[in-house]
Amino acid sequence: MNRPRIPEKLRQLPQRKPKEQPKAPPTAPAPPAENKELLAQRDRLLEKFTVMQADLGGAFYEMAIRDHVRLDVLTRKAAELQRVDAELLAVERLLEIERADAAGLCGSCGSPYGAADRFCPQCGNSLVPAKAAA
Ligand SMILES: [Zn+2]
Repeated sequence: MNRPRIPEKLRQLPQRKPKEQPKAPPTAPAPPAENKELLAQRDRLLEKFTVMQADLGGAFYEMAIRDHVRLDVLTRKAAELQRVDAELLAVERLLEIERADAAGLCGSCGSPYGAADRFCPQCGNSLVPAKAAA
């Protein structure tokens, strides 16, 4: 008689309990009107920056293939681009500060940090106020 073999042990892996996911932080309330204005400004600047950056690249390309690179023109375009970039950065900073959980800006790198942060999330600078350390 040819009986089918049955595996000696049908091992069952112990069922793992699903790991509990850390609770997501409560969603921030809708931004106030002022914040919306900043967001719109940020989007405008971002778009402007993107367009200008492409324009700068295109200008350089056109000059390069004609073997006539005009550095003065490129430098002027780059300076304009830098100005927009700085504006964009300033708006982004404002937006970050307006976040409910931002407690202030890092004294070392200027990045916003949360009230619970002891070290700057950006550069690791200690955020313990100087007066408390003294
Ligand atoms: Zn920092």
